[in-house]
Amino acid sequence: MLERTLNGLTDCRKGHLVRMDRSGIAPGEDDGILQEMTRWPHEALAIGRWNGTPVAVVSEEGAHGWPAARDWLGLLPPSQFPLLSTALQVVTWAHDHRFCSRCATPMKRRSEEFAMECPNCHFRSYPRISPCIITLVTHGRQLLLARSPRFPAGRFSTLAGFIEAGESAEEAMRREVFEEVGLEIGRISYFKSQSWPFPHSFMMGFYAEAASRDIVIDGVEIEAADWFTVDNLPGLPPPYSISRALIDNFLRGTASTD
Ligand SMILES: [Zn+2]
Repeated sequence: MLERTLNGLTDCRKGHLVRMDRSGIAPGEDDGILQEMTRWPHEALAIGRWNGTPVAVVSEEGAHGWPAARDWLGLLPPSQFPLLSTALQVVTWAHDHRFCSRCATPMKRRSEEFAMECPNCHFRSYPRISPCIITLVTHGRQLLLARSPRFPAGRFSTLAGFIEAGESAEEAMRREVFEEVGLEIGRISYFKSQSWPFPHSFMMGFYAEAASRDIVIDGVEIEAADWFTVDNLPGLPPPYSISRALIDNFLRGTASTD
């Protein structure tokens, strides 16, 4: 388990380590990404404690041919997903906030929290988290799945989009579903959430009951969309995604009412 508290880690320079480079993450012990206890290099960033032991991440120069972060999603023990997600987002944040966005002075990491502070004007920046809604639209026993031009051939998925400034999650749901497939939705219910560190999305999963059935795709974000049932499913997203969890959970529900 990852505890994200940084209390007491200010002067800690030893513990577990996650090593990354521009293209991937180094294999560690136990089929995961956690390296044995080691002295941390100077540039390592503490991210918390793993089962009580301090853990840090380090971003290294060059390319070592390590598996890509996305590939690790299919390889990692699920217990290490929070470690992968936190390490990736902390490294991205440290890389993207090296200078103050107000006065351009080099930033300094605050030791007791995930924050960078400008020594000149005291502006602080925190890891960026971008909230998104992801939704399975349903109609009776049917589910609406769509494909983006970026998907592998044959794959369909749930609808998703970023929450805009000033919007609630519910407003984002209605806007995204209407923009992408032209449907009005009625009752919305919350499912669960998932951190998606590519580079810093936070996915909030919902079910939405369709209030209309005629699909009108936008042709840009979505190139095809249709209603499916358990008997005619297309290619689905991989098992570790919240999209797949939304679909599988819905199908279990329809099966149990047979
Ligand atoms: Zn500043």
